[in-house]
Amino acid sequence: MAMREIDTGNFQRAMPLKAAVGSSGSRRLRISARATGPASFDAAPAVSDASPTGSVISRALTVLRNERARAAGFTGARGSDGSDFVPDPVPQRTSSAAQIVHFQQFYRGVPVFRTGHTVRFAPQGQDADVLGEGVVFTVEVDTAPSLLAAEAVGIAAKYLVSSPPRKSKDEFGQEFEDTPVKLDGFEPKVIAGFPTLPSQPTVLDWVASSPQAENQSTKPFSKPIPAHLVIFDQPAGPRLGWYAVFSREAQFEQFAVIVSADVKPGEMLYVRDMMHMARARGNVFEFSPGIADRAMIDHPRSITDFPIMPSTPLASFPPDWVDTHETAGNSTSATLGLTNRSLSGTLNGNVVEFLPTDRFGDDQKVLNIFYFCNYMHDFLYILGFDEAAGNFQKVNFTHLGVGGDPVRARAHSGAVRGTANMETAADGTPPVMNMGLVVSSGRHTALDADVVFHEYTHGLTNRLVGGTRQGHALDAPQSRGMGEGWSDFFALTIQNFFRAQNGQPERVVTGNWVVKNQAGIRSNAYGDNYPFTYGNIATFERDPDTGLPDEHQTGEIWCAALMMMVRRLRAALGDVDGYRLGWQMVVDGLKLTPANPNFLDARDAILLALDHMRDQRRISAAVHQTARQAALTAFGRFGMGPNATSADAGVDDIVEDVVPVPVAVAALAASAGALAGAAITATRRRTRSSAKARRSRSSSASAKTR
Ligand SMILES: [Zn+2]
Repeated sequence: MAMREIDTGNFQRAMPLKAAVGSSGSRRLRISARATGPASFDAAPAVSDASPTGSVISRALTVLRNERARAAGFTGARGSDGSDFVPDPVPQRTSSAAQIVHFQQFYRGVPVFRTGHTVRFAPQGQDADVLGEGVVFTVEVDTAPSLLAAEAVGIAAKYLVSSPPRKSKDEFGQEFEDTPVKLDGFEPKVIAGFPTLPSQPTVLDWVASSPQAENQSTKPFSKPIPAHLVIFDQPAGPRLGWYAVFSREAQFEQFAVIVSADVKPGEMLYVRDMMHMARARGNVFEFSPGIADRAMIDHPRSITDFPIMPSTPLASFPPDWVDTHETAGNSTSATLGLTNRSLSGTLNGNVVEFLPTDRFGDDQKVLNIFYFCNYMHDFLYILGFDEAAGNFQKVNFTHLGVGGDPVRARAHSGAVRGTANMETAADGTPPVMNMGLVVSSGRHTALDADVVFHEYTHGLTNRLVGGTRQGHALDAPQSRGMGEGWSDFFALTIQNFFRAQNGQPERVVTGNWVVKNQAGIRSNAYGDNYPFTYGNIATFERDPDTGLPDEHQTGEIWCAALMMMVRRLRAALGDVDGYRLGWQMVVDGLKLTPANPNFLDARDAILLALDHMRDQRRISAAVHQTARQAALTAFGRFGMGPNATSADAGVDDIVEDVVPVPVAVAALAASAGALAGAAITATRRRTRSSAKARRSRSSSASAKTR
């Protein structure tokens, strides 16, 4: 595909200070400077409005302008060169609270292609550094195009069409050939434009220019073509150009081009194939065979297929799921049992296809476990289980966190101990997931999102609670129980999001397909009427070896509370916002939870996460109030009301505080968004764990179980 690519850009080594300015009219300026505080330089442009205590963006802009003026050698009268720096509106923040602001360079309102600066503030204090590369303009560049957008698009289309069809070997050694595009009878026409803006954003489409073409079913390009002006820096100086993007979806092609706008006829300055290659798709069960039959689904799924969108655009997201043509990639390597045998796909065009013949065979198990794990990787990445947070990836592209730990997902033909499990060690050590057959039903856990999402979530909670380096942060009895609860919560709510979209009722049992039992694998359904509360944990039957109740049974109470919280959020905010806010509260809460927490620690972390969202103006005060009430109602309903206490994370010193949900409030919440401010008048029930249970307290200090 490289045959058509062109790049006439300026890649001369960027010169630091005092670079010779030739006749080119520009020079590259690469800054790598350490600034201490927003020091003021004589040469700096006026930035007095940006005080050191201002927002991180205005502080970053001050630092950038100062460092750039100094590095470029601007002096007094010439404090600038017509450049502006436009910040990414959302500053990034690492897990250590370093703050990062990215800027794009503009010249008189026109974006300068491929340039950008980054200002990084250290976690403590005012120390900042400035990185990245920009252009210093030493001559005026005329930003009024002498070529129209439609002319530029026409020239680019001719170029794309006239270059010989690709015939090349791909990375699998297979040859493929393009279908040529025919432009005859079509011409580009402006369908929308903003000519008064400096960069003149324009959208063009191909329209029939002859009656014969009107009968042709396919247009040369499958989507309208967005275009705008850019400054393109060449070794001989900066040029004005038209940037445009051409898509041919059936060919999996997308080209970005820049055609010069400063001379007639336009010339091709830049052509780049944008398509993220090594794409794949597979015939998978999206959730489980009990819900729907297999369907062909793209790997990766499009970002629009996820129930949540990132709050800021993520670079090259979603990432590729496959490295080559097997069920192995950066975040998951799926194999059959203990072998290294992954499933191989076949190439269709330039897309790898996984097409197991037997829908319940071993190949399908490997493929489905691969699909589920990658889906969870991407879903949780959007929510903040990213590289810095210690997620599971072979390579960490941001160089944050520790790589070298993709999930090793093993689908076993037969049964395995525990049926399904996941081991998670500290960041940098690959977790191992095992999925086996449920012998009694003859059904396999690898095909069931209830099970695989549950196990993957163990990886999430083990990494986030207490930090990424621990690996033993969910050992205490209550903590361990919550680990199970969080896992059921995500497994069910992700699926329920899509059920709500399709008008289907919420599922409140889990594992029902795989065990062939409508009641599923837990003691009771996770509705608002789930019968147990926080104080019941001490009364659950104990394992004779450990003296502790079963962690799944303990976790049910936690899951019931989280699911009720989300139900309340949905009632108040609608399904989409309700689920999204609920998930974000839970994931942020995990990051704010110390090692080996009890239920109340985790409850408080969720509430704190919600307060942070309000403080950072990510949600309004009204939504905060509504969501807080939803959370308090759910936690109170399950015994984690304001007067609940727990001396430690064992099970024998729990004092619960059950706050019954008044019928009126419950009805209001179900019908309207009236939760905010609703007064809860309730009689409270306080219980103390039984003396019998307290007798075995000594054993609760040890979290080790089988
Ligand atoms: Zn589990």
